[in-house]
Amino acid sequence: MRTKYNALAGPDGGDGGRGGHIILRGNKNTWTLLPLRYYKNVLAENGEAGSGNNCTGRFGKDIYIDVPLGTIARDETSGSKEVEIMEDGQEVIWLKGGRGGLGNARFATPTNQAPEHAQPGEPGVEGWKILELKVLADVGLVGFPNAGKSTLLSVMTAATPKIADYAFTTLTPQLGMVEYRDGKSFCIADLPGIIEGAAEGKGLGHRFLRHIERNVALLFLIPADSPDHRKEYEILRYELEKYNPELLDKRFVIAISKSDLLDEELIGAIRKELPPDIPHIFISSVTQMGIQALKDLLWSIMNEDGQHT
Ligand code: GDP
Ligand code: MG
Repeated sequence: MRTKYNALAGPDGGDGGRGGHIILRGNKNTWTLLPLRYYKNVLAENGEAGSGNNCTGRFGKDIYIDVPLGTIARDETSGSKEVEIMEDGQEVIWLKGGRGGLGNARFATPTNQAPEHAQPGEPGVEGWKILELKVLADVGLVGFPNAGKSTLLSVMTAATPKIADYAFTTLTPQLGMVEYRDGKSFCIADLPGIIEGAAEGKGLGHRFLRHIERNVALLFLIPADSPDHRKEYEILRYELEKYNPELLDKRFVIAISKSDLLDEELIGAIRKELPPDIPHIFISSVTQMGIQALKDLLWSIMNEDGQHT
């Protein structure tokens, strides 16, 4: 630099700004990775070049990707786990923006007071990455085929359009948001495969188990027209235990579905059969009987565990 009063002011090239990071951020109000399906190429901004008068270039803008808690990030090529997001607000730099270069002012030495040289910035990192979701729901639905799981899910989550446009295959857990009171909500998942797979001896259950690892409660759905409600519950419980005994540590709730098929007398008789230590409730997806009470029960159980504050 030369100025009117200082012909040899010396080098004044500022440093370049670093490139933007790509940052994963846990968000407890996000429940699926599906919105990211349409967001395949994510490019953070370049850092700005440094300029005269020792001005450092502006940093490139970081990009935040909000993901549900329980999201695991992997590198596609190596398959190795890079990041696990477990907490709301947790931020992890997934791909680092390149470091900015150093301006020529940094290279001034007593013998070279006007270096022409400036260090170029580092290129950013690029790669194919995979996001995977481990946690899917607060409440997992367990029941034999035809117990009414899908119907219950559609009734409990009817007010939300959220599940409507998700095209799950039959082997994917069906997810729904239950809108609870005062804008609070929780997530419920129909977990096909555990019981159906177990019944067919296919061991499909394992593939879904990781989805219920963190479920707070398991809702056993036993249809009113079951020949033996107590026995059906015991069988379901046994199947779960066979897959993973830790599942028995979760909170259980029994719901007798299709209770519109019952009269007071039958309800009384079934009530006596059921295990006294597990809370139970009679519901009908057809008449809405007990649906709000079931939401209340599930909500109170989740809050006992301090999961939703
Ligand atoms: P899933 O296999 O456990 O998902 O069971 P579905 O939800 O597919 O229901 C199985 C059958 O039970 C269907 O024919 C439903 O119409 C019927 N069903 C479901 N809920 C009720 C209910 O509350 N009352 C009656 N009467 N039938 C029901
Ligand atoms: Mg179903």
